[in-house]
Parts: sequence; structure tokens; C-alpha cells
Amino acid sequence: MHNRLVAFAPGRVEILGNHTDYNEGVVLSAAIDRGVTVFAHRLLERKVEVSSATNQRTAIVDLDSIGPSTAEPWANYCFGVIQELIHAGLATDGLNIRIDSNLPVGAGLSSSAALEVATAYATIALANGSMDPMEIAKLCQKAENDFVGVKCGLLDQASSVFGEDNKAILLDFRSITAETWLLPAGVSLLLLNSGMPHTLVGGEYNERRQQCAQAAAGLNVRALRDATSAQVLSSRLDPMIKRRALHITGENERVFAGKAALQAGDAAAFGQLMYASHESSRVNFENSTAYLDTLVDIARTVDGVIGSRLTGGGFGGSTVSLIRTERSAEIVAATQERYFKATGAKCSPILTRPSQGARLLQQD
Ligand code: ADP
Ligand code: MG
Repeated sequence: MHNRLVAFAPGRVEILGNHTDYNEGVVLSAAIDRGVTVFAHRLLERKVEVSSATNQRTAIVDLDSIGPSTAEPWANYCFGVIQELIHAGLATDGLNIRIDSNLPVGAGLSSSAALEVATAYATIALANGSMDPMEIAKLCQKAENDFVGVKCGLLDQASSVFGEDNKAILLDFRSITAETWLLPAGVSLLLLNSGMPHTLVGGEYNERRQQCAQAAAGLNVRALRDATSAQVLSSRLDPMIKRRALHITGENERVFAGKAALQAGDAAAFGQLMYASHESSRVNFENSTAYLDTLVDIARTVDGVIGSRLTGGGFGGSTVSLIRTERSAEIVAATQERYFKATGAKCSPILTRPSQGARLLQQD
């Protein structure tokens, strides 16, 4: 029986397949080499104590009556996961959880899912339980949906769970399955934060979800997964709804083309799909910003960049670029300089590569 342990769950980046998860579609994502570390130990009392080195806060809740905290909303990511695990039948003792993280919060790298997944891995292992990895991802998503009140799709949690070194994860949100595909040799991922936080709480995310549902209803399909771009183009949908739908069908098609490019080891073809994805965000889904567009425009001019697009929900946040690793220093320097010249803003770079997903680091 473990009394204390350390669990780690990574952040994630969506590489292709934007807003497809809640349309029962497909995504190519990767876990990154940064994330949330949870140090957990058992308590004799039936309570959950959570503290975070990131925000220097502590929150405590009674294990037998876990409810959302309004004073410490950040702790609800942990409380929600523990409550869902108890509902799923896990017999856990009281526990103390200390959080540390090297993921920027709210930068579109999914610190929230990393926090949930690391909490789940630690809590399950401390209780000597076991759970199917996809079930863990789903349970964490449910905690964020129901307990925290954010209607996120399953992408964030599943990517944090299924990551593998140097591999992209193809997640299918209809069959709820994951497979992994090796990236070509010599490439890295460069994440550039536009400096403008994403504001999904602003209602745009839910509005886009509603528009996608409206498009599926108009096309008479269960979800946009069941439509092709050709069908959408020849439909009689309202022009704005049509553009929204075209983004989703196009993204699903680009994910399958991306898988084929990875199978063929064709980095250049993959990069073109990333640029096409961004263009569709800009024009069809309108979830880009002038800052993100500037980053992608700059990427096209920098030697060694293979492809670039916004990643995550959009409306701010970050871009992801596929780059030649040997050129990374020059790419970062040139991009920062050109971005500052164009916008007066600074973009903070994170150079990363696809990395292993959630795991226990230590236990005794
Ligand atoms: P993202 O998941 O893109 O980083 P979210 O808004 O979904 O952004 O989640 C960020 C929230 O998750 C934070 O506001 C905080 O409540 C919680 N969180 C994430 N990491 C930590 C951490 N290290 N310590 C405390 N809370 C955290
Ligand atoms: Mg999040």
C-alpha cells in the first residue's frame, strides 16, 4: 500500500483538428514535456487538503461532503476529480495534495486538464485502485464539465493521458479511441503565446458549439463528423453557419490527410495542412485574432518553419508550429523580433516535442 507518491500529467497541444472534439470528429494532438506534478499523501482524517505552489493557496474540504469552493475555485479541479472517483466507487482515504507546475496557466496548453489528470492518477494509486486510461480521461472531463462548470471536450484530458515520446496522438471522439503516430525525425514543436490570454469564458466557445449543433441539425446528421466539406458546400445552410460547419468538416479531413502524411514521413505535406487549418480558423470559424494571424504570417517567412496554426480554442492564446529542430534558436529569435516589430507585443516561446503522458514518478 502506498502512503505517499508523486504523479505527473502533461499539458497538451492540438496539432490539427480544431473544435472537432465536440463534433464527434478527430484530432491530432500531443502531450508536451511540461505539466503538473502532484505530491500526494494519505491523511488519517477524512478530509482533502489541496495546496498549490503556483498560486500559494490552500483549500480544505470534507471528504464525505465534497462541494465546490467559491473562495478557492482553482481547487475545484481537484475536488471535482476526487468526488467523481468516489462516485465511480473508489474507496479513498483522506489525502493531502501539493501541486507544482511548469505549465503557464490559461495559455491554451491545458493546465486544467493536467491538474485533473495528475490528481486522478495520484488519488487512484494511493487508494490502490485501477482504472482504464480512457475512463480516467472521461472522468476528469466530467469533473471539469459538471463540478467546475466549464464545458470542455475530451481532447485535453485524453491527450494528457495518451501522450508518447515523439508521437502525435490521433483521437477519435466518436469511437473514443486513441492511436499514436511517429513524427518525422528532426522536427520539434514551437508554441508561441500571442500574449493575449484566451477568454473562452467570454461565451464564444459555447456559441461555436451551438452553431455546430445547428449546422448538424440543418444537414440532418447526428454530428458534423457525419458530413463532408463537399456536402456542406452544396447545402442550403445559412452562410455563417455554413462557414462554421466547413471548418469542422475541413479539419476532420485534414486530420486524416495528416495521418497519411505522418505515415509517409512527409513533414512538408503535414506543414501545409497546418497552414490550411489556420486559414480555415481565420475565415470560416472566426476564432483567430489579429495577433495569432500575425504569428502565422511571420512563420511563413522564417526559414525552417514547416507549418503553423492557432491551437486550442482560439480567441487569443497560442500558435503551434512544426519546425526543424536544428533551426530552433534562429527561428525563435527571428519570430520574436518580427512579432515585436509588427505588434509591439512580446510572444513567449515554448520549444517542446511530443512527450510521454500521465504517469507516477515516485511512490513509497
Ligand atoms: P488552461 O487549461 O488552458 O491552462 P483553464 O482556464 O482551462 O486554462 O484552466 C486554468 C485554471 O486551472 C486556473 O485558473 C486554475 O484554476 C487551475 N490551475 C491550473 N494549474 C494550476 C496550478 N498549478 N495551481 C492551481 N490551480 C491551477
Ligand atoms: Mg483548460
